[in-house]
Amino acid sequence: MNMEMMEKILQKIKEYDRIMIFRHVRNDGDCVGASKGLKTILQLSFPEKEVYLIDTDTAAYLEFLGPEDEPVDEELYKDALGIVVDTASENRISNKNYALCKELIKIDHHIPLENYGSLCWVEEERSSCCEMIVVFYEAFKDQLKINSEAATYLYTGMVTDSGRFKYAGTNGHTLRAAATLLDVGVDIETLYARLYLEAFGYLKFKAHVYNRMQITENGVAYLFVDKAMQEEFGLTQEQASACVGNLDSIRDVICWMVFIENAETETIRVRLRSRFVTINEIAEKYHGGGHANASGATVYSIEEMNALLADADQHVKQYKETHEGWL
Ligand code: AMP
Repeated sequence: MNMEMMEKILQKIKEYDRIMIFRHVRNDGDCVGASKGLKTILQLSFPEKEVYLIDTDTAAYLEFLGPEDEPVDEELYKDALGIVVDTASENRISNKNYALCKELIKIDHHIPLENYGSLCWVEEERSSCCEMIVVFYEAFKDQLKINSEAATYLYTGMVTDSGRFKYAGTNGHTLRAAATLLDVGVDIETLYARLYLEAFGYLKFKAHVYNRMQITENGVAYLFVDKAMQEEFGLTQEQASACVGNLDSIRDVICWMVFIENAETETIRVRLRSRFVTINEIAEKYHGGGHANASGATVYSIEEMNALLADADQHVKQYKETHEGWL
């Protein structure tokens, strides 16, 4: 925990009358939860300040968390403090007006590919950026306020980014932060139902995923969700991308990935996942990055997709040959 940095961030928040919160493109539970949670905490704690969260990116499965603020005049950014959550590199910030802010703070838990902003608080070992926001709240709880709305946003990010507290990054700090939120009040029955219930038709697609998944020589499981498959099941890009989670419980498969064809941009999105072995170095080689066990990348042809698969296969082979205890 970086107390000195957190104190500097609180000081900056106090100095500014207007705060703009930003997050990454192609949003997920953690960046939505962290941005909305932080916004709510700041509004409750400093009612005299203007706090904006302006972002037009939406994800259907997170719509239950509610809409963001309407766009405001660009002039309003110029004397504002910008706080960017959960975003490793500047080019992934969703609302490009971040560049207009007088000052920028980065709060993130990704492996830092680059730093930006005048203050940079990065803790890679945190299971989610939401966990960092809870730590920040806990550190200054004599000065900050929280309510069950903020707790629900933050809990959403903690649950989704840790795979329901299952991934390797989950530790005592994670559960203590989650406990803080439950003490404030989160309706977890409703939250889990909103996040994880699936439509009948989507389960049919899941059955297809298990039918069509493939495996490389050394045990990298993968699936190419091409345009035809997306059309057959009437999938959005988001729904097509979600199936990476379906490949996560295969014995001896310590690395798995899905390739999602985007006919509009003529690119193929890659979602890489692993346990035991790290895969961010593979993602970084293919125009991407992310975490040790969860990364994203982009490839531009079937040849490049096969090259990535071959690299991942060799990477896994080497890991399996030099390590014990994986399963
Ligand atoms: P995804 O499979 O797209 O959900 O990505 C998994 C993790 O890697 C997320 O935390 C993303 O923020 C991160 N990530 C995805 N794509 C990139 C990229 N191009 N550069 C850096 N990080 C990425």
